[in-house]
Amino acid sequence: MSKEVDVVVIGAGPGGMTAALYASRSNLSVVMLDRGIYGGQMNNTATIENYPGFPSVMGPDLGEKMFAGATQFGAEYEYGNVTGIETDGDNKIVHTDDGDYIAKAVILATGSEYKKLGIPGEQEYAGRGVSYCAVCDGAFFKGQDLIVIGGGDSAIEEGLYLTQLANSVTVIHRRDQLRAQPIMQKRAFANDKMKFIWNAQVEEILGGDDGVTGVRYKDKVTGEEKVVDGKGTFIYVGIKPMTDAFANLGVLDEQGWVIVDDHMQTKVPGVFAIGDVRQKELRQITTAIGDGGLAGQGVFNYIQGLKDSALK
Ligand code: FAD
Ligand code: NAP
Repeated sequence: MSKEVDVVVIGAGPGGMTAALYASRSNLSVVMLDRGIYGGQMNNTATIENYPGFPSVMGPDLGEKMFAGATQFGAEYEYGNVTGIETDGDNKIVHTDDGDYIAKAVILATGSEYKKLGIPGEQEYAGRGVSYCAVCDGAFFKGQDLIVIGGGDSAIEEGLYLTQLANSVTVIHRRDQLRAQPIMQKRAFANDKMKFIWNAQVEEILGGDDGVTGVRYKDKVTGEEKVVDGKGTFIYVGIKPMTDAFANLGVLDEQGWVIVDDHMQTKVPGVFAIGDVRQKELRQITTAIGDGGLAGQGVFNYIQGLKDSALK
């Protein structure tokens, strides 16, 4: 299978959906590909409180609304796991498991994925008590004592979500101060179900035939080895970019984030990048959609430039 379009958007998170909306509204033919469900990381978020116009909205609900907007001017949404991108003159060839797309411009909107701790027990008990998604798996642990590892926005926000289901939520953090936004810290410290273990280096996820039973950690102040009991362990220790499919383009920084200019264009003409996957300071829905608008307009200008030079 091979399909020709003006623009391929890779990733249907908030960034990709906004880019598809802008590009298709400029009368370009657009295909938006995703190997998961449209909505991206919003599907893993319970309540969003910092998206203008919606004082409080469930992540998947916001995803549905964005999808309706993104496809209203003819942008197509197709399942596709993108495995590689090549350039061929002015064309970009996007390879997927099911065939190729030939486009004049490509927008990389593949976002990020959770980092793993890489400790014993993490892989062994994945899906049997180890989780990276409170919204997906929290309900399996009603009334239980749970553990959250990490101290950023994800750990605290999702930990707070889990308190609605669990008996207790113990946050294990490697320092004595959280990284999460002050408003989340305030809520966490005021929540009777939230407990904290500070200066702790998690060394092993413990378990047995019935799944996770707890976590072994080292107290970094005293050097003591300790165990905390818990049925479910939710790991939120940061994110990394999903860029394997286009590492060959030479557009990544040392950590793997995509480098773009103010128009969201990479150094490869016609290849744009937006949202969490790009090098940036603040990874949020609002910043992803801002990037998406710029890239949606950017591809229009780029393709117009190709047409103008063909006429000369
Ligand atoms: P994503 O939403 O990550 O979407 C990327 C899409 O690309 C995914 O659907 C993925 O399947 C697809 N993809 C990846 N690789 C490929 C490939 N090779 N082929 C095809 N498809 C591919 N932000 C806020 O503003 N407010 C919040 O309350 C908030 N809460 C959060 C809670 C959690 C737990 C997390 C993890 C993040 C939260 N964020 C929040 C951050 C926000 O979700 C992200 O900044 C935002 O989703 C980034 O959008 P994106 O479009 O760049 O990427
Ligand atoms: P993050 O901000 O990078 O935080 C990761 C946390 O994990 C940090 O507290 C870090 O500790 C800890 N950590 C990292 N490696 C570790 C290791 N090997 N062992 C133990 N702990 C480790 O990641 P995040 O919380 O997933 O957030 C990702 C992005 O999404 C951020 O930009 C965030 O703002 C955004 N987000 C926003 C919202 C919201 O706006 N409501 C919600 C969730 C996420 P240190 O603090 O010591 O570095």
